[in-house]
Amino acid sequence: MIEKILNKSLEGKNLQKEELLKLFNVTSPEEIQIIMDTAATIRDQKSKKIKLTSTVHLTNVCQVTPKCKYCGFAARTSSEGYYHPFYKQEDEILKAALSVEDSGIPRISCSGAHGYHGQQAVTAAKVVKENTSLELLVNVGSDLNTESLNELSHYETDTVCCNLETVNESIFNELKPGEKLKDRIKICEMVSELDLELSSGLLIGLGESYEDRVNHLFFLKKFSSLGEIPIMGFNPYQDTPMASHPPCSLEEQMKTIAITRIMYHDIRITVPTPTIGPENVKYSLMAGADNLATVIPDHYPSHVKGVGSPAYGNLKEVVKVVESMGLKIEYRNASK
Ligand code: SF4
Repeated sequence: MIEKILNKSLEGKNLQKEELLKLFNVTSPEEIQIIMDTAATIRDQKSKKIKLTSTVHLTNVCQVTPKCKYCGFAARTSSEGYYHPFYKQEDEILKAALSVEDSGIPRISCSGAHGYHGQQAVTAAKVVKENTSLELLVNVGSDLNTESLNELSHYETDTVCCNLETVNESIFNELKPGEKLKDRIKICEMVSELDLELSSGLLIGLGESYEDRVNHLFFLKKFSSLGEIPIMGFNPYQDTPMASHPPCSLEEQMKTIAITRIMYHDIRITVPTPTIGPENVKYSLMAGADNLATVIPDHYPSHVKGVGSPAYGNLKEVVKVVESMGLKIEYRNASK
């Protein structure tokens, strides 16, 4: 039964919602393995190169009130997170970006909390693009407007990320009481209208159904400049209102990554090392991901706490895993 659906995808035909739902409903380990193998084949047919994305966290001072219930990133939300407020100055952003560039990692994500109308992202774009050759993703959620998006475009920002997290509005409202789903959708539309590459992902394991995930994957099709989908498994951060909510299982993350690849052959599928767990990076690759995020080189100049969980992937460790799987790292400099 699933073979027919998978063959249809391998032949390049579009799958219907019911077909994706059938894949999500698979429970036998053998069939999950077949789904993952198919996803990895689709990724490998395109390229066996894996992109790495490092990070610089711009600020954890967030004006969203009340805070998102799972957030351990914003100041004072979790003793496991950054906890103390910070706002990085230009010289700190520059040092971090230069350390990433020097390591050979080709891409950096500059992300931060809300309340600055995108100016925190614009400053980062200016610093990164005027001083390095790094590809740049910025992620300040829906804290953007026309002016800041135009400035990001002016600095040749490669990708703007605004995760919808879930399109199940009642779950969104419950978990993100200080935000509105429609504001995030609006930013995704504005990014697409400017023809900036859009990254927009799913936070899974929040209590959403498989149907919600399928609806979400189909909803993303409406954004014409969609180039990247992050798949992020929920992990509880201590002291937050969701501290006792169970973490998203590895199996659910792998299934969702693989089904996203089966639906979207050519899109960058990103797995942040903190959300899957640095020790599980290989499973995301087995499921067809082609971009690992929050990869931190040795000698990185500041202290990092992952978004979604405090752990993160060290560059050397991640490289070992990628190469042990017969895949290649896409370095910034081809000679590296
Ligand atoms: S998840 Fe982002 S928007 Fe929500 S409270 Fe945390 S930093 Fe603010």
